[in-house]
Amino acid sequence: MAHFEDLSKYSYWACGSLEVLNVGWLEQSGLATALPTGEHLDLLWEHCKIAVEQTRGFYLCLLCPEPQRGIVYASRNGMSLHLGSAEIRVISADGRVYAAPNLIYHSVHTHHYKLPEEFVAALQTGLVPGSKEYFESLDALGVDWKGLSTQRAASQVVPKGTEIEALQKLETALRIFREDS
Ligand SMILES: [Zn+2]
Repeated sequence: MAHFEDLSKYSYWACGSLEVLNVGWLEQSGLATALPTGEHLDLLWEHCKIAVEQTRGFYLCLLCPEPQRGIVYASRNGMSLHLGSAEIRVISADGRVYAAPNLIYHSVHTHHYKLPEEFVAALQTGLVPGSKEYFESLDALGVDWKGLSTQRAASQVVPKGTEIEALQKLETALRIFREDS
């Protein structure tokens, strides 16, 4: 996964005419940490339910020690998501937009990555993910979100055991295919 400084200008995908800032594109060292609150985790999780700019491959968490490094699955409030193949958008009340990899939930939950203060404020007082205004803003940004959220419940359920292996083989095959074509 690419590394970007927190609150630097986002330029990975389209932004429409709006200014979008990077948050949570972490590198292995120099992580500022703080114990996360349940409220922050809940707010992040709600945003992770609406994945944007989904890619086929998975980014692995660089903060996890090598032997345990794999596709990240997370569960909260009775729901499971795989993280590392899409981004989220957090939109503040005054229209500032933050782009983060959805691994950010795991980075905060498991590695205690300290979120920038203005990003926390946007989580707390910004547009509610799933609301009409939120989706209208995603459209204004020109990000791809349609079709991801409607099938979310079915596609994001955590596969077990052999299903994970099959999924990883499929991902590898897709990657090889794409590199060949
Ligand atoms: Zn990790």
